[in-house]
Amino acid sequence: MATVSVSASPDGLAVEDGWSAFVAGRYHEGKSEEEFRNYDAAVVPSVAEFYKTNHELQTLEFVLGKEKEYFALTKGKKSIWEAAEFLNTLVDESDPDTDLTQIEHLLQTSEAIRRDGHPRWMILTGFIHDLGKVLCLYGEPQWAVVGDTFPVGCAYSDKVVFPEYFAANPDLQVPEYQTECGIYEARCGLSKVHMSWGHDAYISHVVKDYMPEEALYMLRYHSFYAWHQEGAYEQLLSEHDEAMRPWVRKFNPYDLYSKGLAKPNLAELKSFYEDLIAEFFPDKIDW
Ligand code: FE
Ligand code: FE
Repeated sequence: MATVSVSASPDGLAVEDGWSAFVAGRYHEGKSEEEFRNYDAAVVPSVAEFYKTNHELQTLEFVLGKEKEYFALTKGKKSIWEAAEFLNTLVDESDPDTDLTQIEHLLQTSEAIRRDGHPRWMILTGFIHDLGKVLCLYGEPQWAVVGDTFPVGCAYSDKVVFPEYFAANPDLQVPEYQTECGIYEARCGLSKVHMSWGHDAYISHVVKDYMPEEALYMLRYHSFYAWHQEGAYEQLLSEHDEAMRPWVRKFNPYDLYSKGLAKPNLAELKSFYEDLIAEFFPDKIDW
């Protein structure tokens, strides 16, 4: 299969790794305020540049358009493996330090979950959690695929990373979108809330008929740090969201901190994952 490369640029895939390091630093327990400030715009300019674009362009209108486009699942039928192999053609040429493929990141996450004795559905969640990044291969720009996510159509929380960059978002000029609940009803629940577009929204939609509710929360909100780590957007949450949040939090460290672990051996692991996938999914699903 042909390889699609994403070259170094402020919007390049390097941002994803910069971003991972950034959130790992931001949320690593025990860090002092001083250390937190080391991750500001001056220190990680590519991450700052990325969020500047992301926060400016992720408007409610943009999100509604992407939901319409991708939630119809008209990108063809693929098995989970085929999707993982497809995603694996995405190569980050801009980061010489990481020779981890996309599948290796998925396997590191899922294997760390497996080692800790979590249920099989959670291991599978680890394996599929970033498959939504195939959006890059459909031609979506980085700022519409990766990075922290946040609700659109209501006031921005200052708990969202780089909140100052929302100043350039046209939604800021729409008073209706800038109240605490915006276009939503208080306590309506996150299922009614439109999130900034990215790989979380896409993968959780693709697998919604096959995975348990806890898994769907992990998938849909794994990049919504303002909520799962900071507890922001309380005004929109339902009791069900509150009940699911511990699951999202439980998943997060496996995604963030498994990156430095030993390289998984794909050949050795393949049959385990084939069986696991077959337990939850039909041969091919709509993407
Ligand atoms: Fe992710
Ligand atoms: Fe990930």
